[in-house]
Amino acid sequence: MEIRLQKFLAMAGIASRRACEKLILEGRVQVNGKTVRELGVKVDPALDEVRVDGNVCRLNNKPIYILMNKPKGILTTVKDPFGRPTVIDLLKGVRERVFPVGRLDKDTEGLLILTNDGELSYRLTHPKHEIEKTYVAKVVGTPDESDFIRLRRGIVLEDGRTAPAKVRILKAGRDFTVLEIIIHEGRKRQVRRMCKAIGHPVISLKRTRIGKLNLRGLAPGCWRYMTEAEIKYLK
Ligand code: URA
Repeated sequence: MEIRLQKFLAMAGIASRRACEKLILEGRVQVNGKTVRELGVKVDPALDEVRVDGNVCRLNNKPIYILMNKPKGILTTVKDPFGRPTVIDLLKGVRERVFPVGRLDKDTEGLLILTNDGELSYRLTHPKHEIEKTYVAKVVGTPDESDFIRLRRGIVLEDGRTAPAKVRILKAGRDFTVLEIIIHEGRKRQVRRMCKAIGHPVISLKRTRIGKLNLRGLAPGCWRYMTEAEIKYLK
């Protein structure tokens, strides 16, 4: 049965479906020796040979789902051109190729999913999926009610208005405040930009939950395979 090339690549665990579309548009994908640059092409997994950057891709029959507590200072990428440490370096003993779902900034810590299931990744990173991500943000100063109203209504950033956030105070310090912020989008540096926009820049940021999955039992830098129940919940 034929399937779209980007879907095949995602199912083969190369990356999320959107990232696979980008690989195709960048001319990095070959089907039966020919570079494909458009998105409409279909392939038959049983008959066609698909390569990315020259490496043959096969459909995965062993999907892997990992939860990690990403520490600060580690990049959320598979490979860094400058050789800096990435989340993949923390996965000792995992032989399958996996990739992070979404992104935490280098200086953000907390819960990260890694998988080779490109379809799941696509669903989880699509805003329509609306899976809530919970962040604990220590911010400069003391936001007031009007700041919270702005966050709850959605803030206009350079890339458009954010969806409404849920926000509450966890701790009020003398010159800082610890907020819990819940969003379901995953734009670049979104929480940092939202806090900056209300005049209270982030001092430190941690993702504590993805949906109902949380960091319980995971020290920074540690990871574990998801349970069957967790996988079922995400799907
Ligand atoms: N929002 C941010 O600003 N940074 C992250 O790493 C995640 C969400």
